[in-house]
Amino acid sequence: MFMNNFEYFAPKTPGEAFELVGRLGKKAKILAGGTDLVILMKDKIVSPECLIDITNIEEFEGIKYEPGKGMVIGATTKNSEVQYSEIVKEKYYALAYAAGEIGSSQVRHMGTIGGNSCNASPSGETPTPLVALGAKVIVSSAAGDREMPLEDFITGVRRIDLKEGEILTKFVLPEPAPKSASRYAYMGARDANEIDCVNMAVNIELEADNQTVKSVRLVMGSVFVRPLVSAAVPALLNGKKFSDELVEKAAEAAQGEAKPITDIRASEEYRHTIVGVLARRLLKEAFAAAQEV
Ligand SMILES: Cc1cc2nc3c(=O)[nH]c(=O)nc-3n(C[C@H](O)[C@H](O)[C@H](O)COP(=O)(O)OP(=O)(O)OC[C@H]3O[C@@H](n4cnc5c(N)ncnc54)[C@H](O)[C@@H]3O)c2cc1C
Repeated sequence: MFMNNFEYFAPKTPGEAFELVGRLGKKAKILAGGTDLVILMKDKIVSPECLIDITNIEEFEGIKYEPGKGMVIGATTKNSEVQYSEIVKEKYYALAYAAGEIGSSQVRHMGTIGGNSCNASPSGETPTPLVALGAKVIVSSAAGDREMPLEDFITGVRRIDLKEGEILTKFVLPEPAPKSASRYAYMGARDANEIDCVNMAVNIELEADNQTVKSVRLVMGSVFVRPLVSAAVPALLNGKKFSDELVEKAAEAAQGEAKPITDIRASEEYRHTIVGVLARRLLKEAFAAAQEV
């Protein structure tokens, strides 16, 4: 499997990167960890004339948390760094857990959190919890920055709202609400290096009585062309006392919203069933975790 010849650029500053991305336009692809892109190049699905490697730019990398304000995660931060970060685990548990479930250790040490969203695979691991946690993305160019919710940035299968000359530079996560917790889970055919047939994240906030749901966000992956934010689950649970009966109704409602397809990994029917299983489990787990905060 040989790739096409290409010219390789490794800018060291954001300015150099924006200049290259703007000047080379459609001729170039942005390269981060390469764990998706290089495979597509080997399979000749994409054959860019130039690669712009953005992993030497300090400003695009790293995890910064400011109490009361939230977290900024640079786009080229490795998935393994997100997985092992103590502050991500403490504040945004679902994200740390999801990052740790990507492929293998080698793949997580190469691949980046930005690449996972820009690849825009419906079964991508980190977009689901990021959307549940209310993450926004910053896309930047020589002309300045644009900010949008991640669910608007991912527009379809392998489609993102990135204009010519732009680079995804960061994710911005709000400070978690008091008495809130997030959880993530997935179902795949095997334990290692599998692609999820359904994944899901729940972020729940409770009232001071520890029983009433103040707000809940449930996001499904691999059951639509992009992360699917449930409208029905918050409509059922917000403002209500948490109960098994309500969880059952919420799981059925999520199943009603999912629009899975049949493919080599799972049938549409199986995916529908798994949506119900994960919704029940995650709502209960996140509720119990929020009671402990
Ligand atoms: C064996 C194996 C197993 C895997 N298992 C999983 C899994 O279980 N779950 C999962 O979700 N993924 C999995 N992946 C996919 C992959 O590891 C992740 O999607 C990873 O996060 C991609 O990041 P990257 O830095 O390698 O992206 P790259 O391959 O460098 O880039 C991917 C795409 O995004 C674009 N891009 C990258 N960064 C930016 C940016 N900052 N701005 C604009 N565009 C950008 C690139 O141009 C390219 O189109 C697996 C991959 C392999 C090889």
